[in-house]
Amino acid sequence: MEKILIVDDSFFQAAQLKSILDDDYDITIAHTPTDALFYAGAGTFSLILINVIMQGMDGFTLLKKLQEEDMTQSIPVILVSSFSDMQNEQYGLTLGAVDYITKPFNPLVLKARIQTHIRLYNYRKQAEYQSGTDHLTGIANRRQHDHYSVLRWNEAARLQVPFSVCMFDIDHFKVFNDTFGHLAGDKVLADVAKTVSSCLRRSTDFFGRYGGEEFVAFFLGDCADKASERLNDVRQSVEDLRIPHAPSVSEWITVSIGGVTVVPRAENSYDSYLKIADTMLYDAKKSGRNRVVWEKHV
Ligand code: GH3
Ligand code: MG
Ligand code: MG
Repeated sequence: MEKILIVDDSFFQAAQLKSILDDDYDITIAHTPTDALFYAGAGTFSLILINVIMQGMDGFTLLKKLQEEDMTQSIPVILVSSFSDMQNEQYGLTLGAVDYITKPFNPLVLKARIQTHIRLYNYRKQAEYQSGTDHLTGIANRRQHDHYSVLRWNEAARLQVPFSVCMFDIDHFKVFNDTFGHLAGDKVLADVAKTVSSCLRRSTDFFGRYGGEEFVAFFLGDCADKASERLNDVRQSVEDLRIPHAPSVSEWITVSIGGVTVVPRAENSYDSYLKIADTMLYDAKKSGRNRVVWEKHV
């Protein structure tokens, strides 16, 4: 069932809205804007209904706050108001509300509008998901990497926690393709991606395809030694897949990994550390492949 958040300081009006929608949706009620921000930030709502006139913080201000937060800015908001003048409606829509409904309203019309907005929201989410996903492997693509790397980097800088970034590259992959064909190579990419994804499962872990046969991962919290250990386990789990390689190069498909851990400071940039990870990857290749090389002294 889709989840809807109703924000109304009137217990009576909130209950009235709930009774209209209860059969079709999973309803949560917030009686104060503070509760609304808390619920909306933590939950997975498909739509938020906000009464414009409330004590303390009006619906417009609450809408602005929801639009400022990453977690809530894309959730469609419908404003419900007893002001029927065009100015208020215009203001609400320019702030980013998807619809403005004036009281008294017809319950069937309200339901129809809600249904439409939730359907549009789901289409948009699906399109966004697809545009951030690599078709071959089903993991995040470069575009998603570019988006989340900045968010997580800034988060680590704000919290002053260690940030680790690493690059992966499949060893002698050209020879594999030349020996077994490109399609077999595609399957290897998908299998490796699946295995690594299953190892990097914390909510703040990111793993994506950087391009070609190269992958990128970043995560928060671990010190350099712990991060390098974690990635060595990942490297091992790829080897443990025991995908036969071209006999001329090695027994199994393996990956080389280069990484770095740093507590971000204002003068640092994510890109400069990604470059260090790439240099470490080059060192891993030079020193024999199927290994992790981690820069620990930054
Ligand atoms: P190294 O151990 O030094 O990384 O050697 P390598 O052969 O893996 O490195 P190189 O960069 O020379 O070759 C990368 C190969 O990856 C060449 C290219 O055909 C292959 N590749 C890149 N993208 C794809 C893909 O989407 N599918 C398949 N099957 N192969 C790909
Ligand atoms: Mg490569
Ligand atoms: Mg390679």
